[in-house]
Amino acid sequence: MNKNTTYTKGNPQGGLSPITSKWMHSIFNDEALLNDLFGKYGSPINIHHLPTFSTNIKKYQYLFNDYGLRHQIFYARKANKCKSLVKQAFASGIGVDTASFRELEQSLNLGAPGRNLVLTAAIKTQDQYELAIKNQVPIILDNLDECEQANVFARKLGKKAIVGFRVSGFTVEDEKLYSRFGFDITQVSTFILENVGEGKRFEHLCVDGIHFHLDGYSTLQRGKALSDSISLTEQLNDKGFQIKFIDIGGGILMNYLQDEQQWKDFDAQLREQVSSGKGNLTFNNNGLGYEKIEGKVVRTLKTYPYYNSLNGTDFLKAILDYKDLKSGRSNAERLKKHQLEIRIEPGRSLLNQVGMTVARVAHRKQDYKGQWLVGLEMNMSQMMSSSSDFLLDPFIIYRKKAGAGLPVDVFFTGAYCLERDLLLKRKISLPQLPQPGDYVAFVNTAGYMMHFFETEAHLFELSKNLSFDASEDFSSEEFINDENISEN
Ligand SMILES: *Cc1c(COP(=O)(O)O)cnc(C)c1O
Repeated sequence: MNKNTTYTKGNPQGGLSPITSKWMHSIFNDEALLNDLFGKYGSPINIHHLPTFSTNIKKYQYLFNDYGLRHQIFYARKANKCKSLVKQAFASGIGVDTASFRELEQSLNLGAPGRNLVLTAAIKTQDQYELAIKNQVPIILDNLDECEQANVFARKLGKKAIVGFRVSGFTVEDEKLYSRFGFDITQVSTFILENVGEGKRFEHLCVDGIHFHLDGYSTLQRGKALSDSISLTEQLNDKGFQIKFIDIGGGILMNYLQDEQQWKDFDAQLREQVSSGKGNLTFNNNGLGYEKIEGKVVRTLKTYPYYNSLNGTDFLKAILDYKDLKSGRSNAERLKKHQLEIRIEPGRSLLNQVGMTVARVAHRKQDYKGQWLVGLEMNMSQMMSSSSDFLLDPFIIYRKKAGAGLPVDVFFTGAYCLERDLLLKRKISLPQLPQPGDYVAFVNTAGYMMHFFETEAHLFELSKNLSFDASEDFSSEEFINDENISEN
């Protein structure tokens, strides 16, 4: 049902084909809508589909219900700053993980009671403690100083601070995992027993939970960390504490790509390019982390692992099914036995298929090497994460029906005055050169890509964030500008 555009995935024959959703294609197909939105909001725009976010939430809820576990989900809002998603999280009955004063304050103002929030900020300031304690928001404590500070502010306010202890240093397959965060698992129990509770140093802290958030994506490590955390709560509760929850943080893997073979082929081609020094898979032969040293390709791909067969609820299942070697019981069984609440703080994985970033083509040019560069009205900071490239093929929306143009390879460039402002480092093949005014859509960007590193260099305005609810036939009026969502 082509309304009036011709659109195509970049690299129509192969490439790295992203998983997409119907709502994205409905928008690609609707030139009038795109023209309207760009007329109103400029370029680029970030578009969010709220029903998809709700569906993602439900999948985790169903899984926990299937296991018969007490549970709560806290959407880690640092992955995307939109208020619309925070509101949708509350409407779906889940909480929000906040990591700064403003994230906390705004979430409270959007209507959340304190118990629906958690404060996990890496650096905690006086205003954060005060706001959290006043609203009885659980604070995840990382170190001794934080215990001291939370205790002082709780005393001043005449309240208890509800806290969880962040734990790290789990031993997995004889190796101790390093983290700069948290209390060491071998010492935390003694520390809590000696210092927390009536008549002790930190008598204004009420320990409700244990927390960890691990780097990397190993389900074995998460499984072991959860198992050790359950044992820790057993020890503490035997000594009179009443630990109610274990929060296993976020980092649930997500899958972006349709085809594992494409992912493997890309990896092989990239290594080959680094090895031979030839080819133009990426701009200026960028190895995306691979390097050639003394004739060998060394190091690793420094990107997010965009293809994952084990992802989402299956990833979580693997953690819940992990069995403690001594008792032979699974984490799920032990959680249930102790009536412990399991908490998760997913950011990225809840945003799967929720958003896309669309930009308008400004110009085309050829550099002296003859490479086509297509300039977009956006900059590198508007689609940037810690991954060294976003490895998903974009979609090109040709406003005029594609004519007899010739196939062409292009790189997309951005508005910052830096040689390195390439929006994608990968070369993209197209059936024909786009024209100024055509649109380029980068799909599945809601998690981390849109806001995490966004800057206002050159005084460029930050991109507009729009959300909508409709499932079909939507007009531009249905798109809510996040700036217009009021806080009470
Ligand atoms: C970043 C972070 C999360 C969210 O991680 P995702 O990978 O987006 O799921 C959750 N909890 C803590 C403590 C974090 O630092």
